[in-house]
Amino acid sequence: MRVAVIGGGLGGLAAAARLARAGLEVTVFEQNPAVGGKAAELRIAGCRFDTGPSLLTMPQVVDDLFTDLGERREAHLRLRPLDVLCRYQFADGAVLRSCPDAGAFGDRLAAATTDTAEAVVRYMARSETLYRLAADFFLYRPIAGWASFGSGISPAKGLWALRQLPRLGFGQTMHGLHRRHFRDPRTIQLFDRYATYTGSDPHRCPATLALIPHVEHRLGACLVEGGIYRLVEAVRDLALRQGVRLQTKTRVERIVTRNGRVRGVTAMGETFDFDAAVSATDMNTTYRKLLADCPSGLGARQMRRPLSSSALVFYWAMRGEYPQLDIHNIFFSGDYRREFEELRQGACPVDPTVYVYRSCGYVRSDAPVGHENWHVMVNAPPDTGQDWRAEVERTRGRILSRLGSALDMDPALAIVEEGLLTPPQIETRTGSHRGSLYGPASHGATATFLRQPNRSRDIAGLYFCGGSVHPGGGMPLAMLSGALAARQVLEDAAGGRP
Ligand SMILES: Cc1cc2nc3c(=O)[nH]c(=O)nc-3n(C[C@H](O)[C@H](O)[C@H](O)COP(=O)(O)OP(=O)(O)OC[C@H]3O[C@@H](n4cnc5c(N)ncnc54)[C@H](O)[C@@H]3O)c2cc1C
Repeated sequence: MRVAVIGGGLGGLAAAARLARAGLEVTVFEQNPAVGGKAAELRIAGCRFDTGPSLLTMPQVVDDLFTDLGERREAHLRLRPLDVLCRYQFADGAVLRSCPDAGAFGDRLAAATTDTAEAVVRYMARSETLYRLAADFFLYRPIAGWASFGSGISPAKGLWALRQLPRLGFGQTMHGLHRRHFRDPRTIQLFDRYATYTGSDPHRCPATLALIPHVEHRLGACLVEGGIYRLVEAVRDLALRQGVRLQTKTRVERIVTRNGRVRGVTAMGETFDFDAAVSATDMNTTYRKLLADCPSGLGARQMRRPLSSSALVFYWAMRGEYPQLDIHNIFFSGDYRREFEELRQGACPVDPTVYVYRSCGYVRSDAPVGHENWHVMVNAPPDTGQDWRAEVERTRGRILSRLGSALDMDPALAIVEEGLLTPPQIETRTGSHRGSLYGPASHGATATFLRQPNRSRDIAGLYFCGGSVHPGGGMPLAMLSGALAARQVLEDAAGGRP
């Protein structure tokens, strides 16, 4: 059986490797000269930057990929757990360094805010429960809307799960949950930020997403030795060892269907025959471009869903050394609700929360001696035709003034060279519709169940994976979605479906 995988991001590569392992003939089509998609790398002024993702959570997902394919991840890729997860600096100047242990983190938080260590421990226990429920219900399982909810779960577990359902937090927002657990606005802001890991607004996403702190604190938050792109290379090479054929610089223009089933793809004006296709590019792009001549009811509903946020990222090669900073640093704005309101209205925030990632704090060779590599990111709205030149100029000024006052310096004077990533560039380079990072936003009680399923309901032989579909965005979930899509291709092949 011949399978086309469209897109060589982490999701597509993970799916391809698994399918090839099962003996299928797999070709990955990647439009760019190199694979990786959002997980890319930049080198300027002697500095190395991870341009997209900077934090790997759920390293077990990577380990499982290698183990399932008969290899050991350790032989190809080194991961280092972080001792300090993040340095937070609030608008009032208070600083807090988070760490994996809930008790120790609670003590630090109690020292920096008016909340107690016990409240943090209680909250982290709740976060763990949410994670366990979500893992059972949907993270590791294919899902196709409410109808599939609970299918494949044993009756005993199903009964237990049904009783737990109200605890999954669909009925309240993440911000609402945090207000119930904590009283200090700074603690609430700190935990609200986890909604942005899915490009969502904490005031509009369900409390279910409060599982993310458990994922980051307890399931492992890692640095990838040598940079995130080493992960891409390791997964790419794993796929190649399984016999995957990789065709770079080849943009797929259409998924060819006949009588309701996939027959092939067209790329560079040529048609290639395939029995199945796994679209590992953005879900919106798949429906809008690759299936433009094949209307889908579900596709039309998916395309109406509001998008998750995008990002503006500056890559600054900096003169000087800044040991007061950690590897991951957050500088919070004074009014978080307003920030999300502005994003909702399609504007870059006037007072943005700023993320600074300095991988040189771990790998000294990522910047020359006496220099640092700052990946400076703020949330941005998806591209709806804003004047990005003006937005970049304004946002750059706002970031410089926030960092300047927080660190008591003039960062502009230290910038040796600058790189930039805007929402339109994200769309051009990765195919993500309007530059949104994670496909549809996880807003509303049912968003989790309404994400694009990994198997198409309209077209036989069509599958979806990657950060814009089930089970969600971010590197580990994109790779999990590759596993889920591959599993369904193989189930269908075994049952003679495609
Ligand atoms: C600035 C930024 C920061 C982030 N931070 C984090 C983080 O810290 N931690 C984390 O886990 N995640 C983070 N993410 C999200 C993470 O990068 C993504 O969720 C994940 O990498 C998505 O992988 P994917 O498989 O969906 O594909 P993508 O990375 O989106 O890749 C899709 C691939 O498909 C190719 N393609 C598209 N259309 C076609 C076509 N028609 N034909 C052929 N090829 C095509 C593209 O060129 C691309 O290579 C971040 C993302 C960005 C941009």
